[in-house]
Amino acid sequence: MTEKKIDWNSRISQTVRDLPPSGIRKFFDVAAKMEDVISLGVGEPDFVTPWPIRESCVYGLERGYTSYTANRGMLELRQEIAKQYMDRYQIGYNPETEILVTVGVSEALDLAMRSILMPGDEVLIPEPCYVSYQACTALAGGVPVSVPAKIENEFRITPEELEEHVTSKTRALLIGYPNNPTGAIMTRKDLEAIADFAVKHDLIVLSDEIYGDLTYGGEEHVCFSALPGMKDRTILMNGFSKAYAMTGWRIGYVLANPVITAAMTKIHQYTMLCAPITAQIAAVEALRHCAKYRDKMVAEYDRRRRLIYDGFTKIGLECFEPKGAFYIFPSIVSTGYTSNDFAEKLLETEHVALIPGSAFGACGEGHVRCSYATSADKISEALNRIEDFVIHHKK
Ligand code: PLP
Repeated sequence: MTEKKIDWNSRISQTVRDLPPSGIRKFFDVAAKMEDVISLGVGEPDFVTPWPIRESCVYGLERGYTSYTANRGMLELRQEIAKQYMDRYQIGYNPETEILVTVGVSEALDLAMRSILMPGDEVLIPEPCYVSYQACTALAGGVPVSVPAKIENEFRITPEELEEHVTSKTRALLIGYPNNPTGAIMTRKDLEAIADFAVKHDLIVLSDEIYGDLTYGGEEHVCFSALPGMKDRTILMNGFSKAYAMTGWRIGYVLANPVITAAMTKIHQYTMLCAPITAQIAAVEALRHCAKYRDKMVAEYDRRRRLIYDGFTKIGLECFEPKGAFYIFPSIVSTGYTSNDFAEKLLETEHVALIPGSAFGACGEGHVRCSYATSADKISEALNRIEDFVIHHKK
């Protein structure tokens, strides 16, 4: 029989075809082929997962824990998660009905979107933001609606800015603070205003709090669902990737009202079945015994944060002091380059990789995202190279 090939390009779903390629990947691919590159590009801890967490997994395997778990995740883990939220934010989640363990916040985000959206429903998404937010909304049949945050307001979003984008189709608001890529946090007062806005328009709030443990300078993270009256309308997502340096374990969770949790569990049981048991065992250990390792890593990020903030200020690239996550978002407008050209030219001439701000939404143009989840020595060397670049290549 003669082989008849499929024209795969024409068979890809229109929704997937319409997704723009990630503006981040391109720089990793170029950087990976170069020697002597210092990368401030990656959004993951440079630490290895603390040993007791790894050890618990090794022992788990030794004892033969290799099976599926309950769809919602091991009860033991859900109980630990509930305890954390009660101890830290004085908010109660029922481990039986209000907690679902997921394959990272990535899966939680996808489940939440697919559970709540009907075709054409709109989701308000403050930008600059994490690159998956728009894509997850679109893949679930929804329409992402970008709401630009302003540098003058240190990229905190306000109800007035959101208000301009509300329509009869708006169903939800997706916020992510501490923020990737800006390092911005929202104060309690800021979030209370957002809560009033959500009630006014009867919106579901999806809150991605994956960087909630990474705040600095005496700033305490404010958990959105712990605000008065917000628990019921919030789908809260969190995970272990950033705070416990566990990106490769693929483990996170979502906390929400029992009805929406059951709906998300339905999708999860058909598509994922459960999160890996090895990662769940490790996550229990992280929550029970590893706060001190987490706090040590956070203290080190804080040291690097101050180093990089002082460095950019000295170079004369304007930036506000980030108070959360592990990113800084300096303006490169004074150099005369677009953020894409700046990132490309810097990589080419100085071998420093960072991400153009435009990858995180149009209002990120004029900025670059630098991650300080890398060693202080590398940050210092990168700052020297960036300074050289700014002096010699200013347009
Ligand atoms: N949310 C934000 C804001 C992120 O920056 C990331 C990863 O960079 C994720 C979610 C994905 O997290 P996970 O590893 O838990 O899937």
